[in-house]
Amino acid sequence: MPTFTSNLLSVKKATTDLNCYAIFGPNNVAFQDIESSRLLGQGSTKEGLYVLEDTNLSPSALSSAFSFNVSVANDAVWHARLGHPHQRALNLLLPNIKFQNENCEACILGKHCKSVFPKSSMVYENCFDLIHSDVWTSPCFSKENHKYFVTFIDEKSKYTWLTLLPSKGRVLGAFVNFYAYVTNHYNAKVKVLRSDNGGEYTSHAFKQFLSTHGIIHQTSCPYTPQKNGVAERKNRHLMEVARSIMFHTNVPKKFWRDAVVSACYLINRIPTRVLNDISPYEVLTNTTPTIDHLRVFGSVCYVLVPGEKRNKLEAKSTKGGVLEKGF
Ligand SMILES: [Zn+2]
Repeated sequence: MPTFTSNLLSVKKATTDLNCYAIFGPNNVAFQDIESSRLLGQGSTKEGLYVLEDTNLSPSALSSAFSFNVSVANDAVWHARLGHPHQRALNLLLPNIKFQNENCEACILGKHCKSVFPKSSMVYENCFDLIHSDVWTSPCFSKENHKYFVTFIDEKSKYTWLTLLPSKGRVLGAFVNFYAYVTNHYNAKVKVLRSDNGGEYTSHAFKQFLSTHGIIHQTSCPYTPQKNGVAERKNRHLMEVARSIMFHTNVPKKFWRDAVVSACYLINRIPTRVLNDISPYEVLTNTTPTIDHLRVFGSVCYVLVPGEKRNKLEAKSTKGGVLEKGF
């Protein structure tokens, strides 16, 4: 209806409140009273939409009957925009939003909504003193032919950088780029790298790079992979959020790359109990992240733009590309 202030309509609520039938045809729509068969309103189609023009009801009666509970819908939209975080994190960012994760099918299917990092007993004073890393293998190729991603996670801020890879042999290249980025943009040095014993981290070339740059390599023992727990948990969390946002909009699996990049962007901006209820972004940059630009993943076409095109603070903290504008 052109005069409506809301663009959401619940047919169930309208037919229940008005006790009427809703009859949709290819070129017209009609609302008919069940008891008297009186026509309550009718309309035609214009540019692929049903337009309700002719009604016997007052605008306020229609508005109340047709408008879905906008505040509930809005809360759910913000829950989805932020990558389905648990309720506590959502409330820290947006105190007025009320949303129960138990009501969200995508959360249940994605199986997350728990905090990720346990508190470490060792205190690392500066960002980049210790970097955790792990490689994740996808069961299918992305549409850009990526099969893997590697993450670099800063122990102090828990900020995560993610690089997509066509093969595991590219992990060293990704670390070299990450090291250069850290040195250049944060004027910092990586002191310790912690990973598992995977061949991609233990090649001669990798060892050579680490020793040349004075980086200590801590690897997990073959039978105690939990020593690399931070990176493994982070990759699991990334995939849980990615699955939830894909389930939410039924995006095909080949778009996992976009989903996981989005998940990483969101997780970096969501407060966590481990950081005393602030976000990794805030610990790293001393700035509160903006979330106004977020859109639900897959709802509108999403555009991959280089981090450098964002404002200065965003560009500083995003390596490679980030999804924005409708993601
Ligand atoms: Zn959810």
